[in-house]
Amino acid sequence: PTTTPTGEPPAIDPSKLDPDALKVVLRLHQHGHQAYLVGGCVRDLLLGRRPKDFDVATSAHPGEVRATFRNCRLIGRRFRLAHVYFKGGKIIEVSTFRANPLEMEPTEEEGAENGNGNGDDLLITHDNVFGTAEQDARRRDFTINGLFYDVTEGRVIDYVRGRRDLDERYIRTIGDPEIRMREDPVRILRAVRFASKLDLDIESRTYAAMEGAVEDLPRCAPARLLEETFRLIRGGVAAPSLKLLSALDALKILLPPVDAYLKRSRESERTFYAFAEALDRRVATGEPLDDAILLATLLVPISRAAPPPEEAEDAQPSVAQSIEDLLAGFVQSARLPRRIAERCRLLLLAQRTLSGERRRRGAAFRRHPLFGEALTVFELSVEATGEFREALGAWKSGEVPPARAEAPAAEEKA
Ligand code: ATP
Ligand code: MG
Repeated sequence: PTTTPTGEPPAIDPSKLDPDALKVVLRLHQHGHQAYLVGGCVRDLLLGRRPKDFDVATSAHPGEVRATFRNCRLIGRRFRLAHVYFKGGKIIEVSTFRANPLEMEPTEEEGAENGNGNGDDLLITHDNVFGTAEQDARRRDFTINGLFYDVTEGRVIDYVRGRRDLDERYIRTIGDPEIRMREDPVRILRAVRFASKLDLDIESRTYAAMEGAVEDLPRCAPARLLEETFRLIRGGVAAPSLKLLSALDALKILLPPVDAYLKRSRESERTFYAFAEALDRRVATGEPLDDAILLATLLVPISRAAPPPEEAEDAQPSVAQSIEDLLAGFVQSARLPRRIAERCRLLLLAQRTLSGERRRRGAAFRRHPLFGEALTVFELSVEATGEFREALGAWKSGEVPPARAEAPAAEEKA
């Protein structure tokens, strides 16, 4: 429709809606269920941005969604939702309306199962209580993420005053910010991401609650913290996000080596953000960069700042060792998957060969499966610092630049 039943133009241009998401909504309607577009896609459309993906919220229970679509799978144990698959690998995520479990009286089995019905502990450990559309809006994190879009009426349904906050460009929790941040401190990272990505301000009580909840971050599942941290970096907003997290003093918990490096000196701080900005610019071009490249680029300045070796012979083991320790720390504290840590370690080690600080047989080095990715990281560090420009030029034109420092005669194994 080009107008709503009340005659107003729809808030969102219907041609901007994903046709497959529309199919999902309409089919759920045909089967007698309520269904709306929800969350990030509504927010982004109202901001005039192109949504990354379209999510649907429905009154249908997961099993009912499953029965409505052929091309559908249920995922998630704790939080069951349906993925409906379309051509080209596109997935429309369909979740059942849920209530915030902390606002519900737990049933007896649930109380016993969770041991969390007494209200002392705000951390959400269980979130599979079905509810109404309004409850579903209220259990969401921020008002700007709590909007529904009714595609048949062409109307935004706003239970949480999200439109006002979008218009005034504020990130504000739904409900009491203290409670909402304490019950899920991962929301600190989410607020930071939306503030950076969408260029919004964080409302002051929400910000104060974020400061207060930083100490609760260690209670979150490390996998969730790591994932939300990577989302900041993948989203091309590493520099502004890490600045915000640093101002909140959250980096000491999320990325201890980065925190220590930033606190070393003004100079190290400047260098670190130059790397983050070079990375953000590259992500903004749309070039796909995997997590190991993203992380390695941010760690280059830290790995280069390893304490200088006393002797030339000790140089390699000590730098290699400090790179290894750095990544082992992430595997331990952040549960960084070993596969990513290992790739990241190799990418960082290769930087020393690329800069000419360590000599290798150029031809063999070039054939290494990670050569291209290591060169991308090197290129980003040249952009960040202006150093090693000639070496970069040489590698890119198929040559091997001369070694800079005196390298040991014996070559290491690749
Ligand atoms: P993006 O476009 O970056 O994916 P998004 O808003 O879609 O942003 P998602 O992480 O995909 O963010 O989450 C989808 C929706 O689920 C959010 O808009 C929000 O309503 C809700 N949500 C996600 N994580 C939380 C959380 N930790 N607490 C409460 N609600 C959440
Ligand atoms: Mg999303």
